[in-house]
Amino acid sequence: AGIDVPELRVHDVTVRFAGLTALDGVSFTVAPGSIHALVGPNGAGKSTTFNVLSGVYRVASGSVRFGDAELTALAPHRIAALGIARTFQNIVLTRGTVADNLMLGRHTLTRAGFLTSALRLPHVRGEQRAHRERVREIADFTGLGARFDTPVSLLSYGERKRVELARALCMEPKLLLLDEPVAGLNTAERAAMARTVASVRDALGLSVLIVEHDMGLVMRMSDEVTVLDFGRRISGGTPQQVQRDPAVIAAYLGG
Ligand code: ADP
Ligand code: MG
Repeated sequence: AGIDVPELRVHDVTVRFAGLTALDGVSFTVAPGSIHALVGPNGAGKSTTFNVLSGVYRVASGSVRFGDAELTALAPHRIAALGIARTFQNIVLTRGTVADNLMLGRHTLTRAGFLTSALRLPHVRGEQRAHRERVREIADFTGLGARFDTPVSLLSYGERKRVELARALCMEPKLLLLDEPVAGLNTAERAAMARTVASVRDALGLSVLIVEHDMGLVMRMSDEVTVLDFGRRISGGTPQQVQRDPAVIAAYLGG
């Protein structure tokens, strides 16, 4: 609701490492406001795709468009500034409290105004207060309200996964990239995380691209699914279409 979310169009993307084609002509589209899952056996190219989308890896060929912007030549911070935020397969948090970590997520939003407002302290303080209020809202929304001033070192693994999600949301993204958001969580925590992601999408209207191994969860929470295997897109469509695609069944049985 409210934000203008462009379509993400990945077109014919190839990524090579020495002697290995990690992505081989991959194409898919993430519709505005949809939850789109990227699945496939280990080594299929899921994390590589995220690294392309966030500007960490360069493509050998192909294009990635987010609305009118071509992402393949942009540095990571330029891509973040366009409204694409990601979490990592392995949690990367700094020391300090939940609030500290979430304020770091505001970094891309504050930096532009930092120099110009340096001479007007009340303005800066007002801006900081506004950021802190928004960060507080996001913490409440992601189930971290009671942990706001708690050092992250004291949090459970499941809570730290939530801090990662919340920190990405603090960038006010239009597209959220989640790399295995429920890995390492128990059944109840998985269901809770899925509900949080769905409510975030419903409330904010952003698009979500999610890499996840838990197929049951992916099938329940996604609008659309893209299946990769050995760097190629082998299937795509609604969860129902993908689930009964013989190519998908073969890839998972074979892997
Ligand atoms: P997935 O996330 O689907 O498990 P990845 O995208 O991590 O798969 O990896 C796809 C393939 O690319 C694998 O064979 C992996 O070893 C290779 N790969 C990924 N990143 C690199 C890298 N930085 N250097 C060399 N090979 C890589
Ligand atoms: Mg991976």
